[in-house]
Amino acid sequence: MSVADPIIVDYEHGISCIDTEFHNRLQLDASHLIVDSGEAAFVDVGSNYSIPVLMAALERKGIAPEQVRYVCVTHVHLDHAGGAGEIMRQLPNATLVVHPRGAKHMIDPRALYEGAKAVYGEEEMQRTYGQLLPVPEARVKTVTDGERLPLGGRELLFLDTPGHAYHHYSIIDEQAGVGFSGDTFGLSYRQLDTARGAFIFPTTTPIHFDPEAAHASIDRLMSYDLGAMYLTHFSRVEELPRLAADMHAGLDRLVEIALAHEQGGAERFERISGDIRAWLGERLREHGCRLSESEIDGVVGMDVLLNTQGLIVWLDRRAAA
Ligand SMILES: [Zn+2]
Repeated sequence: MSVADPIIVDYEHGISCIDTEFHNRLQLDASHLIVDSGEAAFVDVGSNYSIPVLMAALERKGIAPEQVRYVCVTHVHLDHAGGAGEIMRQLPNATLVVHPRGAKHMIDPRALYEGAKAVYGEEEMQRTYGQLLPVPEARVKTVTDGERLPLGGRELLFLDTPGHAYHHYSIIDEQAGVGFSGDTFGLSYRQLDTARGAFIFPTTTPIHFDPEAAHASIDRLMSYDLGAMYLTHFSRVEELPRLAADMHAGLDRLVEIALAHEQGGAERFERISGDIRAWLGERLREHGCRLSESEIDGVVGMDVLLNTQGLIVWLDRRAAA
């Protein structure tokens, strides 16, 4: 894995997955490239450190930087949009397409950086993300719910899909019969695939988790009767009705776990994260996963912690309301 040798998987309808190599881990964070009639769009771009890989992937595919018409960030969490400012400097004709609630953070990323620094600390911020670069306002396009943008011979349909984050859109490519769901349709790591297929679970990352909105967004995506969904973590999944049912059940379970420890005080974090870990472990065994406990933790451990933090923020918001 390196800039010289980007990992690209080509799917049908001109869609490719490029591994952003986020956190120097493979199959954790994807960028998708859509190419149609000489025009291209990226969907999510990883962090600053992913951009040399994405540019090398473009070159590998014989696409000039000038041909990239859009950089679409499904939401402004930094594993999706952290590299947006950097890649926009390298793509002279691209427009950054962002949810109306995320635009100001792309134009002036200081608040985004400070918010993440409060969680991760300065050293980790520099190691994982580097300095976030602003995108000139004139190059930013916000898309409202139901808006369509042309790309080559097709159209991309943008849907407001809150639940994971309130600055989150998903993209429907009706011609290809697929969606790009960012984090709205959960996390499905390829390392957890078994003979039973893909394993999926919701992400409740701070600070906007909203279970009702998350359920509704999944139903909305499913109403398009798609053949496949491209997730940022990680890439293409099929069998969408089964996975949607797993997502609804998973959201219910996470909410149930959080509510059971509503009064947990200082031990709330340990209790909620312990319950999430146990629940995922049990579901993975039912799914036929043969990885050891520590291997499973290597794949989902970070998400267990982020989900716990997000559920606690949700509990506190509920209590304050
Ligand atoms: Zn996210």
